[in-house]
Amino acid sequence: MSVPEPIRNPEIKYTKLFINNEWVDSVSGKTFPTINPCTEEKICDLQEGDKADVEKAVVAARKAFELGSEWRTMDASKRGHLMYRLADLIERDRAYLASLETLDNGKSYVVAYNADLPLTIACYRYYAGWADKNHGKVIPIDGNFHAYTRHEPVGVCGQIIPWNFPLLMQAWKLGPALACGNTVVMKTAEQTPLTALYIAALAKEAGYPPGVLNIISGYGPTAGAAIAEHMDVDKIAFTGSTETAHIVMAAAARSNLKNVSLELGGKSPVIVLEDADLDEAVETCHFGLFFNMGQCCTAGSRVYVQESIYDEFVKRSVARAKKRTVGDPFANGIEQGPQIDPEQFAKIQRMINEGKDCGAKLMCGGDRWGDKGYYVQPTVFADVPDNSTIGSEEIFGPVQQIMKFRTIDEVVKRANTSKYGLAAAVMTKDLDSALTLAEKIRAGTVWVNAYNNFSCMAPFGGFGMSGIGRELGEYGLEVYTEVKTVMVKISQKNS
Ligand code: ADP
Repeated sequence: MSVPEPIRNPEIKYTKLFINNEWVDSVSGKTFPTINPCTEEKICDLQEGDKADVEKAVVAARKAFELGSEWRTMDASKRGHLMYRLADLIERDRAYLASLETLDNGKSYVVAYNADLPLTIACYRYYAGWADKNHGKVIPIDGNFHAYTRHEPVGVCGQIIPWNFPLLMQAWKLGPALACGNTVVMKTAEQTPLTALYIAALAKEAGYPPGVLNIISGYGPTAGAAIAEHMDVDKIAFTGSTETAHIVMAAAARSNLKNVSLELGGKSPVIVLEDADLDEAVETCHFGLFFNMGQCCTAGSRVYVQESIYDEFVKRSVARAKKRTVGDPFANGIEQGPQIDPEQFAKIQRMINEGKDCGAKLMCGGDRWGDKGYYVQPTVFADVPDNSTIGSEEIFGPVQQIMKFRTIDEVVKRANTSKYGLAAAVMTKDLDSALTLAEKIRAGTVWVNAYNNFSCMAPFGGFGMSGIGRELGEYGLEVYTEVKTVMVKISQKNS
């Protein structure tokens, strides 16, 4: 697919808070910088939202949600049309948005253009279609009643998103929330605030009424916490680390018991059986871990390889990692850019050092790449002990862990020994093994001979400490819907 030239210095059009369809300064007057992770230089300063700004946004969102408002009385099909229009506008500005995402996040422009943007557009279009199809049922309850359910919006939804796929995570949250008729106060990640604000401008251009969508840039413990603990926010949807999820859920519990959905971390197992196509398995596992600089909650970070092919698999995986192209994410042919910020960079370095000390074998990489930017060399560890830190904790970086196993029963047990349960994969040509493992592994998504394949049509979420609820697909509507039962007494029983 031909990719247009990137815009290396995309104009930064929006740096203010987006509340009630207006661009406003923060109440405190504070600003914060967003940094280019390739150069460690400031891109620009943005208005920094905190509790007072969240308050204003919630008031606007509540007003937009009031009975009789333009939004509440809008035909469901019109809600769908607005979202189709938003998707069209994103498509119009695809190269600009891909460039802005690359600048702020450090991901490859080609990947942003060919993956993040099409997935984002598809997600909005998919949920646009649901706007007028999320309906209830008539239920033949006992007695003389006409009973039916209505699928109503939950209300004012707080949404807190991470920095690894800024546009896509925004789409996963806004798509179902707005299709179902909710209003939203969204806090973007402090590392990557830029593209979400541009989407807000497009939502206004598309014709969303004031207050339906509000975007607050700012930090987690201030702006994020204010949303999570707000008494007039009906629901909180959070994507991020499991540690922060504890705080968000506790805030929801302490305040108004708001509905909570969480999409969190993982330590996803990939099981490579001896009958797998070896080259394909090596490439799939490489992609499964190194994609997006390893900054994926689904990263396939425990690769269990069957004994008879283990040595060869490790050899080829190391060769592949050494070939990985690292550098300027705007340049063609570059697979890997920098990590997002100095904190993530330092955490990855710490984890690599733990890996060296735990008895695992460092096969390649392990150091900083270059002398500027938060780059980490593609790194592979073999013979990783299951109970080591790198074998059991999320690294969120370009660091692959490979382990050896003998039997299917053994690998099932080891794969399932994790507090997480987000994703998993099986590499095999044998249908019986694929289906057996797909059933036995505790994970929200299991890929067979594939990895990181996402579709807005298929639900995504975690078992265990990887999350609560599902995003995407028809299932994704549930967390944005309140089901109301209506029972009408009638004089004669329906047949
Ligand atoms: P990471 O460590 O990968 O940055 P986080 O879970 O800290 O992951 O961040 C994900 C999102 O959660 C970001 O938007 C961040 O600002 C937000 N966040 C961080 N701390 C809090 C908090 N105490 N309350 C609410 N949101 C938070």
